[in-house]
Parts: sequence; structure tokens; C-alpha cells
Amino acid sequence: MSDSVSGNDKAGNNFLRNLIAEQIASGEHTGEVVTRFPPEPNGYLHIGHARSIWLNFGLAEHFGGRCRLRFDDTNPDRENPEYVAAIEDDVRWLGYEWDGPVRHASDYFDQLYDYALHLIDAGLAYVDEQSPEQARENRGTLTEPGVDSPYRDRPAAESRALFERMRAGELDEGAAALRAKIDMSAGNMNLRDPVLYRIRKAPHHQTGDKWCIYPSYDFAHGQSDAIEGVTHSICTLEFEDHRPLYDWLIEHLPVPSRPCQYEFGRLNLNYTITSKRKLKRLVDEGHVSGWDDPRMPTLCGIRRRGYTPAAIRNFCEMVGVARSDGVVDAGMLEHAIRDDLNENAPRAMCVIDPLKVVITNFPADRVETLAAPGHPNRDDMGERRLPLTREIWIEREDFRESANKKYKRLVLGKKVRLRNAYVLTAEDVVRDADGNVVEVHCTYDPDTLGENPADGVKPKGVIHWVSASHGKRATVRLYDRLFAVETPGRGDEDFLAHLNPDSLEVREDCWIEPDWAAAEPEQRLQFERLGYFVADRHDHRPDRPVFNRTVPLRDTWAKIEAREGA
Ligand code: ATP
Ligand code: MG
Repeated sequence: MSDSVSGNDKAGNNFLRNLIAEQIASGEHTGEVVTRFPPEPNGYLHIGHARSIWLNFGLAEHFGGRCRLRFDDTNPDRENPEYVAAIEDDVRWLGYEWDGPVRHASDYFDQLYDYALHLIDAGLAYVDEQSPEQARENRGTLTEPGVDSPYRDRPAAESRALFERMRAGELDEGAAALRAKIDMSAGNMNLRDPVLYRIRKAPHHQTGDKWCIYPSYDFAHGQSDAIEGVTHSICTLEFEDHRPLYDWLIEHLPVPSRPCQYEFGRLNLNYTITSKRKLKRLVDEGHVSGWDDPRMPTLCGIRRRGYTPAAIRNFCEMVGVARSDGVVDAGMLEHAIRDDLNENAPRAMCVIDPLKVVITNFPADRVETLAAPGHPNRDDMGERRLPLTREIWIEREDFRESANKKYKRLVLGKKVRLRNAYVLTAEDVVRDADGNVVEVHCTYDPDTLGENPADGVKPKGVIHWVSASHGKRATVRLYDRLFAVETPGRGDEDFLAHLNPDSLEVREDCWIEPDWAAAEPEQRLQFERLGYFVADRHDHRPDRPVFNRTVPLRDTWAKIEAREGA
């Protein structure tokens, strides 16, 4: 696991699980564990969010508690109902069900407004009429204290009246803001009279035209947690510096419960990006086919690529979580899906670069139906039927006119076994005008079904094949990593400069064994000797099969990295 550190201890527990267990043991925490997953509906969820979902839902599950889904929809500009629906789908797809209805920070706008009035009346918040530029200038820097606003000490009644006017739409955007009165010289910038409400004359997808002032993230988040009875508000490390403000607000407001914030490290994967803003650029600028392009690290992209919810949850469990950010090798995620599909994906044969083989001693009108296991060690997957005919397809790279001993496939004059079928001997080739081999003529030995040839010499190689007359033509999309470097956008370079030009190769002339052409969309299969594939969720049809490559059977990138000394 390269430079990523597993956040698990010896028992496989992470620090949050341990912390909560200790709180319960010591009596510091009583009652239920309540968590929430709080996405901002400004894009699709990505693999990084999977960690947050797994943690929030997983912790609640582990301690017999509850987890809510709450949209952090305080910013009316960036919300889009398309994102809301996609986020709900993704959470459910991962296998989690939230407690009660979907919640929104906007459900609490009335209550939050009352809390704001409470702070004003208590002399703990004021309406600032500095321009946003002035306010920024007076905020100071990490080394210089800020300067008090000239409006800081105005009477509470004056702030209240102005705040009510803000709400009534009587002031323009930027003309005033409500700020907490904390400490303009605090070392923590978040405590320098943070903004609690801004004027924003934009409709909101939940509350319509009701509001023209909106609470800040900081003002909405902790109070929403408290209203919902959240006990453990877990978030990523960048919010660590916000915790004192989180606590200050909880302490000074008449909230119904006292949640605590805990931070954990973000999940980053190499060879990809986990920033909604950058992912949106990939979509908007047409570098991918959409948010669910199978190369995208979005949950819907990964799903369409053929990943399973179980593999993603196992990956999260395996990597664990720590109180520091880390970069996890993309190979780990691939390992997780190989593990799952090796066990759970039925087997199939598909030829993706076809070369015709004519079995000259096999009658032209004969169809022999062979049986093959659905899975080598899963009896519950039954048997599949493979029609063998005189003409079959094999992979072009599985034939050579001559080769050394390392090449264990079909060679002129030599034997090879057709997977799940007979032993063939290559006798001759047919060439086109340019001298390319377009057909291989072979003979088969009818006594070799499940048996070695009579001479006792077992062929070294086994190759896959599909009947040319009975197989079905399919499109296969060979996906690879979207970025060619470990850290896209490293240094000063634009991350788009690091796109992998070979991340997609579409093969239209592929042949799959007939029964699997009728696979349901999202059926995952192992194409024997090639890798794991999935029938495309949207484009696959029995009369026009489309399969996406999830991962090859082995990690080819590890080899490339070893060679380059990366
Ligand atoms: P992005 O930077 O991609 O826009 P975000 O943090 O703004 O992500 P939110 O919708 O606010 O996205 O995230 C919802 C929850 O998921 C938050 O609690 C956030 O901390 C968490 N989260 C987001 N990205 C990651 C990540 N890479 N790893 C772990 N948790 C994450
Ligand atoms: Mg966010």
C-alpha cells in the first residue's frame, strides 16, 4: 500500500470506532450513536465520498445507531435537482438506507433565523455594513490580527432591525452581513467574527423565493446537527480549524442537543482526482462522456465500469481511516474488485481481436454443444452451453506461425487446447493479398474432450474461442485509467495535461458465446483469460451487446511502475 497508511489497528478497527467504543465504555456517551452524511448537492459523489458514507453509515450500524442523509444546501447557486437525485441513488446503491426522510439544511432555515436573532439579542452577533472588500481587509492575516468593524458595537436593537430588513429584501447583496461577535484578534481566523448570514437574492430549489438571506456553512452545519440529535458529526480534516467555531455556536445557542465534531483524513487515490470542481470540468469540456463515464471516479462511473458496492465497501474497510490525509494506490481499489469478481462473476468466453480458425475435420453442418462450468468453484452457478462449430474465432495474439517454447498458444504444426473443448493442431494458414494470416486451418482430435491426446503429450496452452456461426457479435470497451500519472495536475501543470490518451479503446468486432449475449445490463462476467467485464448499464442490448472492461485479470500498472522505477 505505497505511501498510504492503513488507519486500522490490529483488530481491524479504525480510530473513530475505537473512540466511540471508549466513550460508551466510560459513560461519556450514553444513548444512541447518531451520524449523518452531509453532501453538498453541487456535483456527483466520487470515491472519496464513499469513505465518508461508509464511515457515517458504518459507525451508526456498528453501534446500533442511526445515520441520516442531509443535504448541505445552504448555497442556492450551486444546487441542482439532478445532483440531489444522483446522490440519493449512489448512497442506496452502496447498500445504505438512511434513517427517516431525506433532510436538508434548508429544512431548518426558520429555526436558524431564530437562532441568529437569539445571538443578536444576546449581544453575540451584529450586522456589519462594511463592504465585502473592507471586511476582507480588516480580517487581518495569519500573522496580523484583524481590525474591529466600526459596526461591531452597534446596539443589539439596531442589528436586529437591520437583520429583519435584510430578510425582507430591503438591502442589496453585499450591503450587509450578519457576523458573530467573537474575537478579531483570534489566532484562528474562523473566530474573527465569522459571517453567519449573507444577502443572496437567488431562489433556492427547496425554499423557492422565501429567503433572500442564507446562512453560512458554519452557522448551518452544527445547528442542523443539534436539531437532528446527531451525536458524532464527522467530517474531513479541512474542518478542523472550524471546530472551535462549531463549539462556540453550540455553546451559545439554545440548541436541543450537543453534538461534537470529529475529523478524519480525506481519501485520495493516485491516477485520479477527487474534486467535484475538476470532475465537472472533465464533463463540461467533453473529455469524458458524462458524470457516469466508466473512467470517472464518480460512484456512478465506477458502477458503470462494473464495480460492485461490496468491493467498494471492502476497499474502504481494507484501507481504513486515519486522522491524516493519504494517497491510496488505485491498485488497491482494483484489487478489491478482482477479489469480489473472482469469487462472484460467472465465466464466459469472448474474443476481442478475432482470427478465424477452420477445423477442417469438423463437419460443416455439425453443431456440438459442449458444457462448461458457470464458475470453476461455484456449483450454484451451474453449467453453460457452448456450441462448437467448424469455424471458430480465436484471439489474433493466440496464434503464431512459429514461436519459442515460452509461447504456450497455437503455433503452426503444434497443439493447443481449446478451453472447455478439444485439442487442436494447426496445419496451415490462408493469407490475404498483403500476406497477412486471415485464417488458420486446424484439425481437432475427437478423443480429447477432458482427456489428454492418445500420445500422452499434454498441450502446453489453453486458448479461448467462440463459434463463428453461433457466437454473437459484441462491442467491447477497453477502459484504462483516465490519467497517465500518479498525481494529475502535479506542480503547475493543468490536470488535463495528464489525461491518459489510451484510456478507452472501443472494439466493435468482438464475439461472445451466445448465451451471454442476452445478459442483463450490469451483469458482471469474467471473460476467461482477458479480465472482468460488465454489460453496460445503458447501452447493452441482447441484439447489440456492449461490455465494459472493469479490470484486466492482473495488475498491469504495477509492472509499468516497477519498470519505470516509479
Ligand atoms: P469536493 O472537494 O469534491 O467538492 P466536498 O468536501 O465539497 O468535496 P461535500 O459534498 O461537501 O463535498 O462532501 C460530503 C461529505 O463527504 C463531507 O463530509 C466531506 O467531508 C466528505 N468528503 C468529501 N470528499 C472526501 C474525500 N475525498 N474523502 C473523504 N471524505 C470526503
Ligand atoms: Mg463541501
